[in-house]
Amino acid sequence: MNELDKLRSRVDELNMELLDIINERGRLAQEIGRVKENQGVYRFDPVRERKMLDIIKQKNEGPFEDSTIEHIFKEIFKASLELQKDDHSKALLVSRKKHPENTLVEVNGQNIGDGKPHFVFGPCAVESYEQVAQVARHLQQKGLKLLRGGAYKPRTSPYDFQGLGVEGLKILKQVSREYNLAVISEIVNPADIEMAEEYLDVIQIGARNMQNFELLKAAGQASKPILLKRGIAATIEEFINAAEYIMSQGNGNIILCERGIRTYEKATRNTLDITAVPILKQETHLPVMVDVTHSTGRRDLLIPAAKAALAIGADGVMAEVHPDPAVALSDSAQQMNLKQFDHFFNEITATSFVRS
Ligand code: PEP
Ligand code: MN
Repeated sequence: MNELDKLRSRVDELNMELLDIINERGRLAQEIGRVKENQGVYRFDPVRERKMLDIIKQKNEGPFEDSTIEHIFKEIFKASLELQKDDHSKALLVSRKKHPENTLVEVNGQNIGDGKPHFVFGPCAVESYEQVAQVARHLQQKGLKLLRGGAYKPRTSPYDFQGLGVEGLKILKQVSREYNLAVISEIVNPADIEMAEEYLDVIQIGARNMQNFELLKAAGQASKPILLKRGIAATIEEFINAAEYIMSQGNGNIILCERGIRTYEKATRNTLDITAVPILKQETHLPVMVDVTHSTGRRDLLIPAAKAALAIGADGVMAEVHPDPAVALSDSAQQMNLKQFDHFFNEITATSFVRS
């Protein structure tokens, strides 16, 4: 054996010794984790970590620098802490790992998440009783069950129409009774959630509020299902964690809604992240809808976007419909009138989408 081979074989031996030692240390850390759990003590102990690092550095005779040794040991500490958490406690409540079956959200006789497409249509904003009733009548004639309409509108400009507030909720409630439609509307203030439950069948949390954690917590305490929209610049992970905020407070009736994200592309109002749908379906057990109006911001793209959504596995589609979009107080350019809506609905229901 030449000199290099000899040195290398010694390195191989040391690697194996290190492996044994590191794993023995890991087993001890797990043991410590169990003891701490029994005592109800928090696992992470930064004071102890600091003491251990100081002692190790004091004894360090090189050739490694103290900073290098500190780095290596910190990695070991971090990995040990990870070992102390078991996999079960790491999995989110909304994750498929935790709950492999699809969650069905029951609204007005519809089981959203059952593999069939479900639809949420209605005006951007509630403007008057007659305006909402006209759309409601139209939806009812088609056998549809869910109506949307904003009463609290989070607008970019404070000078734009902000919605009718509780008056809008009252209109929705009345229309809901008269036309046997479930109503969905956005709530923006945590303090309004309880009040809104009296008027709404589904509470929407809008894109601008996806990380309003107090609102999410309040929604988690509600007894009504929540439709949670993806934030304007939210990653899928942030979206999933926002849903976890709701579920961790006890409300498991959550519908996720992809509504496009902000990118550098200007051809559409937002960029519809279509693959978010199968990703969310794989990662979570929650139903996933696609809002084709706010994602595209373009009437000419509503049909292809809705078809794409259903083809890729969305549980439903949301779109805005207004009796006279030209005079709408918000999103005038992208809402469909009733005739356009008829064509849209015929088109998207004509194709049957094969589901795996
Ligand atoms: C809405 O659905 O009325 C709305 C404002 O959508 P988003 O929060 O997705 O912008
Ligand atoms: Mn709108």
